[in-house]
Amino acid sequence: MEFERAASVHPAPMIDPFGRTISYLRVSVTDRCDFRCVYCMAEDMTFLPKADLLTLEELDRLCSAFIVKGVRKLRLTGGEPLVRRGIMTLVQALSRHLRDGTLDELTLTTNGSQLAKHAGELAACGVKRINVSLDTLDADKFRAITRWGEVDKVLAGIAAAQDAGLRVKINAVALKGVNDDEIPHLVEWAHGRDMDLTIIEVMPLGDVGEQRLDQYLPLSMVRARLAQRYTLDDIDYRTGGPARYVRVKETGGRLGFITPLTHNFCESCNRVRLTCTGTLYMCLGQEDAADLRTPLRASEGNDLLYATIDEAITRKPKGHDFVIDRRHQRPALARHMSVTGG
Ligand code: SAM
Repeated sequence: MEFERAASVHPAPMIDPFGRTISYLRVSVTDRCDFRCVYCMAEDMTFLPKADLLTLEELDRLCSAFIVKGVRKLRLTGGEPLVRRGIMTLVQALSRHLRDGTLDELTLTTNGSQLAKHAGELAACGVKRINVSLDTLDADKFRAITRWGEVDKVLAGIAAAQDAGLRVKINAVALKGVNDDEIPHLVEWAHGRDMDLTIIEVMPLGDVGEQRLDQYLPLSMVRARLAQRYTLDDIDYRTGGPARYVRVKETGGRLGFITPLTHNFCESCNRVRLTCTGTLYMCLGQEDAADLRTPLRASEGNDLLYATIDEAITRKPKGHDFVIDRRHQRPALARHMSVTGG
């Protein structure tokens, strides 16, 4: 199914007050997830009533408006994007922008639990690469981190994705006392299967009922420990995201580090984030946001929407300022990662 809209006057590209061009949109298509990772959500999360969600047609219209305004890379995330009912209809609809060359990349970040079902269709829609979040290969630890997930299902999903020809990158959050001793094993496992691995610092987003200092493991420490075991050569490789990569000489594979706390990377930020209710966040780490649902629903044409987006981009902040230390143990933001889309 394709959702189409009447063309409007050609809108201007999105350039923020710091001269950064916005070319990357991340869309949280649902706040719901079939896991409850301890660093991401509280066990008793309250989710949005389904009636508050934008329809798939509205999400398509919003994404398409951003593409007209210069977005070249679009990532679906969540919550868990593959648990949103009818999600493949949206992927199929958005794939028309790949075919007509107005979009360079359509991708998604997933926990992998539903991937075995959807991998073939994702590949058929022109998706080339996906990120799968996986913090441990140990079944018991996996169940403890996700509160009930089954690692075997995720591993089957990854295998199905690779069989379908998708490139898979693994994302693992470094958790003190939980998976720190397993990181070398994750490196060898991922690289042995021709997958890049990126390690992420835990960020202080949302109240998850645990003390952040207990979870927080600076990646400077992870890297120093890995460097005792492997030769890590800095490389220029970039995927348009904040990860900085090294080549692990012994495995030949790429290892990325995302360090929002120990090294701030905002100067090259090219992205904005849209939630499933049509709220636009100009920064993952700040409260300021713009409501796009009202202008979306106010008129058939997109001019009001474009004007609202332009105004929002003038408010994109220079950067976030996450801190986790003994004096800052409360969340920097009340919003969970599942709302804005990690
Ligand atoms: N459900 C999908 C998944 O698991 O990849 C997409 C959404 S999830 C919020 C995206 C990523 O954010 C996952 O890799 C997850 O581990 C990460 N994440 C969630 N909360 C985080 C936090 N507080 N700090 C760092 N990463 C976090």
